[in-house]
Amino acid sequence: MLSVMREVAILGSTGSIGVQALEIVAASDELDVVALAAGSSWERVLAQAEEHGVRAVAFFDDDAARQARGAWSGEVLSGEEGIRELIISSGADMVLNGIVGAAGLGPTIVALGEGIDVALANKESLVIGGELTMALSEATGARLLPVDSEHSALFQLIGAERPGTVDRLVLTASGGPFRGRTDLDGVSVSEALAHPTWSMGGRITIDCATLMNKGFEAIEAHHLFGIPFERIDVVVHPQSIVHSLIDLNDGASLAHLGHPDMRVPISYALHYPERADVEVPRLDLAAVGTLSFEQPDLETFACLRLALEAGRAGGTAPCVLNAADEVAVAAFLDGKIGFTAIAAVVERVLEAMPALTPTHFEDLFAVDAEARRRTEEEVGGLARV
Ligand code: NDP
Repeated sequence: MLSVMREVAILGSTGSIGVQALEIVAASDELDVVALAAGSSWERVLAQAEEHGVRAVAFFDDDAARQARGAWSGEVLSGEEGIRELIISSGADMVLNGIVGAAGLGPTIVALGEGIDVALANKESLVIGGELTMALSEATGARLLPVDSEHSALFQLIGAERPGTVDRLVLTASGGPFRGRTDLDGVSVSEALAHPTWSMGGRITIDCATLMNKGFEAIEAHHLFGIPFERIDVVVHPQSIVHSLIDLNDGASLAHLGHPDMRVPISYALHYPERADVEVPRLDLAAVGTLSFEQPDLETFACLRLALEAGRAGGTAPCVLNAADEVAVAAFLDGKIGFTAIAAVVERVLEAMPALTPTHFEDLFAVDAEARRRTEEEVGGLARV
């Protein structure tokens, strides 16, 4: 049991992670939600605020905030500044960041800067901000508690071992809907959105289909656990039962298992260092029957190769990678480019923007904007063909 009630601000409350986080909070006697934020879905946020007794909300979108003010008597803040103010004024002990994309980095910086622990689903905060985000966490003492299931697994496994004993991290990947295929020309948006094991928001689902997501996760793991890329492996595991493994110096390997259900890592991060009951199906290995593993195909799934290369290049390369991917995935979902063009576009933008060393977060915001501009141009060129 936590010794005192933990007050939580949930950012991205209308998304796949945010909704499940609210479920965990509602079922817990130890957690209380004090603030909600989202992009523009103001009606859903107000319904959540009513249901959970929250009196302060924020929207990235100014119009959504205006409409919410007209319909509700609680505090409504707006824009990036509004989300910042919400985090600071909410009195939250913990911020769950379930915002999708680069938009999540600013709120992570604010929370860490204020010394508030962050339950981090927004992997982009580490993909883009890597060193600077970790340094900020170290400087203020605010903790980054991973929500991503693989990183939650690794955090638990590594946390139980002595420093210097972990030789390798092994991240498992479901392989997505196109596992085993080598020709992905012409695959449709609905095929790419049909993830075999996890139910998630649109962007991450496409990133799972290209395997870009697993590359992002390798970068996230590199920063969270301070392990070089040469000691991080990716293995495809279609059942998504093993969430990740560590190899130790004495030849032992430890794995974290469970049914794929994000409520488990969300609950772990929100209650850390305690554990709370979660109503999810228990693992019955005999019923699962077979666990299988295979090498990822870096040729067909070029996004994974690009992400690992960008991770090794370091500096601003992962920031460019993420920005280009966000724009390319949005263009694919809008039907403007084909599935295989996502990797092609990202590769061209990475080639055009060699890695620099960022010294401030502002450097990253500028590189992010430039990468988006170049990717839009690439997408425009393809869309005209
Ligand atoms: P969704 O697309 O389902 O939800 C995104 C959320 O972010 C929505 O609440 C959306 O609000 C909000 N949002 C979008 N833009 C902004 C903005 N500029 N400012 C504030 N809020 C914004 O995404 P997911 O829940 O799937 O993913 C969220 C994050 O968690 C991603 O980084 C993803 O990689 C990571 N993650 C997700 C997992 C999953 O199972 N879904 C697993 C592991 C990690 P609105 O509704 O108004 O648009």
